Amino acid sequence: MNIAIIAAAGSGIRMVSDRPKQFLPLAGIPIIIHTLKAFEQCDSIQEIVVVLSAEHSADFLSLATTYGLRKVARVVPGGTTRAESVKRGLLSIRSATAEIVAVHDGVRPFVTPEEIDRTVAAAQKHGAAILVAPATDTIKQVNDGSVVKTLERKNLRHALTPQCFRYDLLRRAYDAADVNDSSLTDDSALVEQLGETVAIVDGGSRNIKITTQEDLITAESIVRGGLGT
Ligand code: C5P
Repeated sequence: MNIAIIAAAGSGIRMVSDRPKQFLPLAGIPIIIHTLKAFEQCDSIQEIVVVLSAEHSADFLSLATTYGLRKVARVVPGGTTRAESVKRGLLSIRSATAEIVAVHDGVRPFVTPEEIDRTVAAAQKHGAAILVAPATDTIKQVNDGSVVKTLERKNLRHALTPQCFRYDLLRRAYDAADVNDSSLTDDSALVEQLGETVAIVDGGSRNIKITTQEDLITAESIVRGGLGT
């Protein structure tokens, strides 16, 4: 069985709102519901674990009923960092039944079912695979107020989610990780640190992470069909 962990326990402090961003409406529907619908509609995921702060679990469960979500197996209370939240989701999964684990940010509602299926398939083939988008800006490596070097753009990608791994590999990565380290923003980095190869899968640049108020405005434009690829 392939299982998705949806990390949605962030507090949304960068968004000026009384509600965490994953519950804010996008085209009238909570962001997290858009995200979960993509996982409901894809063929490669059979079960979903949603990681949420405990205070939002009841609200979420009523939304899950309203929107007829069938794959949500359980809601797990999140941690202080994203890594701690993902680890809690991972520890709730029974090793005997899990093949691929797909970790996804709850605030990336534009992932498509087809992108999820392709990333899961690549992880089944290679053990680890992440969705990426091309870098469109020139990226500079900097230090102490000046440029160290210009990185070769054709070799750079934005790391998106889902990031998909064989269960045992991701468990090993998280068992070795310090999940209190708030600089850990990416599951792939933990697997890379084990010396394992992570395959890349080309995704669309519209799979943005909604972090700020400006991102929400961009997201509304994407919904209206004005932006994105
Ligand atoms: O904070 P950041 O933008 O990196 O959050 C990415 C995702 O991780 C969001 O969907 C957020 O809800 C989730 N997260 C979490 N637990 C935390 C912090 C963030 O599940 N403690």
